Amino acid sequence: MAACLLTWPPVRILESPAALREAYAAAGLSGGNIGFVPTMGALHAGHLALIRQAAAENPAVVVSIFVNPTQFAPEEDFARYPRPITQDIELARAAGAAFVFTPSASDLYPANPQISVRVGPLGAVLEGERRPHFFHGVATVVLKLLQIVQPGRAYFGKKDYQQTVVVRRLVEECFLPVEIRLGETVREPSGLALSSRNAYLSAAQREAATLLYKTLQAVKHNAPQLQSTEAAFRYVEGRFSEAQGVALDYFAVRAATDFRALETLDPAHQPVALLAARIGDVRLLDNLELFAA
Ligand code: AMP
Repeated sequence: MAACLLTWPPVRILESPAALREAYAAAGLSGGNIGFVPTMGALHAGHLALIRQAAAENPAVVVSIFVNPTQFAPEEDFARYPRPITQDIELARAAGAAFVFTPSASDLYPANPQISVRVGPLGAVLEGERRPHFFHGVATVVLKLLQIVQPGRAYFGKKDYQQTVVVRRLVEECFLPVEIRLGETVREPSGLALSSRNAYLSAAQREAATLLYKTLQAVKHNAPQLQSTEAAFRYVEGRFSEAQGVALDYFAVRAATDFRALETLDPAHQPVALLAARIGDVRLLDNLELFAA
C-alpha cells in the first residue's frame, strides 16, 4: 500500500504524438486546458518549479522530455547530455505532471526534413553568436511541440532569458494560440543558477561558477554608480580577470521589453544584465534584472 501512496497521483508516459492525442481523448482533455513545460530532462529544482507553477494554474500538466538534436552543433554535448529518464518521470509526477511526453527524434523530425524556423537578428546575438544553430533549433522544436501538445499556457524559465524572448516572438509572429508564462531562476544557496550542465562541474568548478551570480548581483547593487553598460562591462571584466578557472564569454545589458542593446543602466528601460562564462569545457549562463525588487 505504501508504495501506491508514494506514487499517487499517477503519471502517464506518452512516447509519441499519437499516444498523446489518444490520452487527451481518453481523459476528455482539449489542449486549451493543458499547461505545458518543455524540457530536455535531467530535471532539477528549476524545472520542478515550472511544473509546480503549471500545475497550480492549469487542470492538467504535460512535461516533455526531449534532447533536441537540432539545437546542438556537432562538437557540442548532445551525446553526453544527461538522460536519467526514470528519475525524471518520478520527479515530474511528484511536481504535478499528469503526462510526460517523451517523443523520439524520428517522431519530431522526418528523414531529410524540409521545414525549419529561422530566427532573425535576435537569434544571432549573444547565445546565437556563439551558437549560430541554436535558436533556429529551439524555435523549430518549440513550434513542433506546441503544435502537438496544443497547450493553453506554456512555461519557460528566465534562466534562459534570450530563449524566452525568442519564444515570445515565435508565438507572436506565428499567431500561436498559447500564453507564454515565465518562471524565476532557481538557484543553489551559493547563488549558482541550477542547470542540467552543472552536473559536468567538479566541486572546485562549482565553487568557481558562483562568480557569475556574484558578479551580476554586484552589477545590480552598483548600477546607480556604474550608470553605463560600458562601465559595467569593465567592472565585470575586472572581476573575471582576477578569478581562476572561469573565463568571461560575454556580458551584455538588454531591455526586458524588446531585448534591444542598452548603453545606459536606466531603470526606465528595465535593463537585464546577461553573461556567459566558460569553466573548463562547460559554458554557463546567467542573467539578472537590474532594477527588479
Ligand atoms: P532545459 O531542460 O535546459 O531545456 O530547460 C527547460 C526549461 O527549464 C527552460 O524553460 C529553462 O529556462 C528552464 N530552466 C532551466 N534552468 C532553470 C532554473 N535554474 N530556474 C528556472 N528555470 C530553469
